[in-house]
Amino acid sequence: MIHFCPRCGAPVELRRPEGDDRERAVCSACGTVHYENPKVVVGSVCTLGERLLLCRRAIEPRRGFWTIPAGYLELGETAEAGAIREAWEEARARIEIDGLMAVYSVERIGQVQLLYRAKLLHEDVAAGDESLEVRLAGWDEIPWDELAFPTVGWILRHASSLRGVPGPLVTVTNPGRQQPAAIAGEGAI
Ligand SMILES: [Zn+2]
Repeated sequence: MIHFCPRCGAPVELRRPEGDDRERAVCSACGTVHYENPKVVVGSVCTLGERLLLCRRAIEPRRGFWTIPAGYLELGETAEAGAIREAWEEARARIEIDGLMAVYSVERIGQVQLLYRAKLLHEDVAAGDESLEVRLAGWDEIPWDELAFPTVGWILRHASSLRGVPGPLVTVTNPGRQQPAAIAGEGAI
């Protein structure tokens, strides 16, 4: 949580504003209530024929592990546009969104993940700044033991089960209503 008021710089204190049902960071000087809410992560499983796009992370947490193009949604951006931007930034991939596949909640770190199925529009992908390398892998070549986050495994299994199924098909809860296992240093993506 924040420690100082972004508006005036004074320390904040945790207290329950009148009429609220929980404690908030409230500025000790100007009284502004600073609401903190989950962040939205957008990403996509991008396929070209029978292959899918994987990126090896160049940044912590989980540097060196494999993921799909995904990251935080920016202000002023639709979720679909965010997923398209992340594919470009992380893999220099141009994609076309096919549809939403899943909505995963990671309550522990305050994330809601919107994960799409997308078509890769060309084969010449390349590592962006946040990737060590990118590759087009067959479905039987997914490095399951070297995936960066539990939700990456979830969405790849889900996408695999939807191969050949016309979209969109939306999953609105975590598999088995479980929470992903903790990962050291998580909280960034
Ligand atoms: Zn203040």
